Amino acid sequence: MLKMAEPIIHHRHPEFQELFVRVTKNLQYLFQTKGDVLTLTSSGTGAMEAAVCNLHNPGGLGLFVNGGKFGERWGELMRAYGVTPIEIKVEWGKSVTVEEMTKVLEANKDVRVVYLTHSETSTGAATDVKAIAEVVRKKSDALIVVDGITAIGAMEMRMDDWGIDVAVTGSQKGLMVPPGLAFIALSERAWKRVEQSKLPKYYFDLKKARKSLATNDTPWTPAISLFIGVDAALEMIREEGVENVWARHARLAQSIRSAAQALGLKLLAKSPSNALTAVFIPESIDAKKFNKVLKETYKITVAGGQGHLTGKIFRISHLGYYDELEMLAMVSALELTLRDCGYKFEPGVGVKAAQGTFF
Ligand SMILES: *Cc1c(COP(=O)(O)O)cnc(C)c1O
Repeated sequence: MLKMAEPIIHHRHPEFQELFVRVTKNLQYLFQTKGDVLTLTSSGTGAMEAAVCNLHNPGGLGLFVNGGKFGERWGELMRAYGVTPIEIKVEWGKSVTVEEMTKVLEANKDVRVVYLTHSETSTGAATDVKAIAEVVRKKSDALIVVDGITAIGAMEMRMDDWGIDVAVTGSQKGLMVPPGLAFIALSERAWKRVEQSKLPKYYFDLKKARKSLATNDTPWTPAISLFIGVDAALEMIREEGVENVWARHARLAQSIRSAAQALGLKLLAKSPSNALTAVFIPESIDAKKFNKVLKETYKITVAGGQGHLTGKIFRISHLGYYDELEMLAMVSALELTLRDCGYKFEPGVGVKAAQGTFF
């Protein structure tokens, strides 16, 4: 935050270029890729849009997994660009299986791109990207595109080793910076497709971005303060080590899941993401009161449900610079809120379960 409050430097000066080189190198480390990582000025959805309009030709076929709000977005983007979407619909809270993916790929040989959501933020469900990518590689020559917007920095992601062609994220999730920057990494296979793509684009033309990247520049004025923030965040990740960052997220996620279950609360996701946990609000209590007390009395901000889960679940984030003590504070506040709402449980049972996972 303090770095971002410093005076703006000029983006065509060597000072910015030095920063740009470091950020790009550290992004490659974060994505675990030797390929190009481009920084775009937009929220995460801009990088999703860039993927769609740079990889297809009009009338092409794209396969996407719809298991929540963000998976659904891949379909909407394809439709907006005249690409025909084929949908694998997954019940909210569940994740696509290798068997389902195999079946659909065998029935649709002309699929050019497969779109996945690594951590479906609307449900807290994780996709086994490694296993799915393996089957896609085996069954087709479709490119594999991963929305990593809450996964990257929270869960293991080895873009090159897993054969991922395109991965995207945004500044405000695992990178811990305010919203406004998006990142897109591309494999050589993906670049070949970009070269052939004839869909309309201008601001998100990745060929322009790649040309600028070669001279440590961006085609348009970058959001310089956010760049400075991302630089600091990536240095933090480097210092901790990305594998340790993944392990910390796994540990914190486990503490929240254990606490919720000890309190008798039901989790939504069958194979949960380590970025967030979606928990059902007990039916015996008033959901509106629950949210209000948690926020106003105990100053804890959680997210509600989206779509048909509005008022039914709440989502706890453990993404970014969190530590064990913050998880215990969260669970403590949850217990006090449940008490205030008249929910019956043994006091401290959630905190004990969470604390227990740290030993
Ligand atoms: C937040 C999020 C997005 C959307 O990103 P914006 O920055 O709001 O455009 C897309 N996918 C996932 C999985 C997300 O969590």
